Amino acid sequence: MLEGKTALITGSTSGIGLAIARALRAEGAEVILNGFGEEAEIARLCEELGASHQGANLLDPAAIETMMAEVGPIDILVNNAGMQHVSPVEDFPVQKWDQIIGLNINAVFHTTRLAVPQMKEKGWGRIINTASAHSKTASPFKSAYNASKHAVDGFTKTIALELAQTGVTANCISPGYVWTPLIEGQIPDTMAARGLSREAVINDVLLAKQPTKKFVQPDEVGALALFLCREEAGNVTGANWSIDGGWTAE
Ligand code: NAD
Repeated sequence: MLEGKTALITGSTSGIGLAIARALRAEGAEVILNGFGEEAEIARLCEELGASHQGANLLDPAAIETMMAEVGPIDILVNNAGMQHVSPVEDFPVQKWDQIIGLNINAVFHTTRLAVPQMKEKGWGRIINTASAHSKTASPFKSAYNASKHAVDGFTKTIALELAQTGVTANCISPGYVWTPLIEGQIPDTMAARGLSREAVINDVLLAKQPTKKFVQPDEVGALALFLCREEAGNVTGANWSIDGGWTAE
């Protein structure tokens, strides 16, 4: 289905991004991974997927420019890299705020602005932004994350309108809680911020949000991304797709 298409997936050395990369590769796309990790593990992933890797730090706009120039024209851009920090607003470390805004929304702007001209020239493109249930609703202690993900939603709608007649679509995917290192990493801070045990954070904070009482699986997100790349999804643009076990239906 995606033979002849090139896909750059940011933050794809782990979690959701890796699952999206696997899904697109399985349908024949040429895949470019991005993200951090141990060199040997990244080499193993590249070998497994027949993929290449760009290690650009997306907090650095100049590094993004270099990466986009090196990868050349791409057909599918998945802006997936993201980070989280859990803290009451009055204690929120200023540097963390800047990093979260830098990675979760500023980098999305930079990759997109650099990918769009060539997609327009080809008359085909897919921009898929991993937002979050937190692009539609909020939870306490995640001010930077919620602000950045609401911004991703607004940015995606805007570019969908700008590109509406070009053959390029732009959509958000908004997962609820997916069991990945990003979620595991926030458990200790949530325990501290709310004074709860690990089990209570998992069951009473995280899964409490999801009516299905199940974590979303990374490959379920991969399948949704794949659908958005299909020819049949050419009229699907400017949408924010929930995959959150019913969380934002409440
Ligand atoms: P993860 O921590 O497993 O993966 C994050 C990826 O981003 C890794 O590949 C990491 O190396 C990369 N990365 C981090 N900082 C980077 C930087 N400065 N430059 C380049 N790459 C960088 O996270 P995940 O859970 O797979 O999350 C992926 C996306 O999904 C994020 O945007 C996140 O906000 C979103 N999301 C996750 C969940 C969830 O429950 N896990 C829910 C909703 C949305």
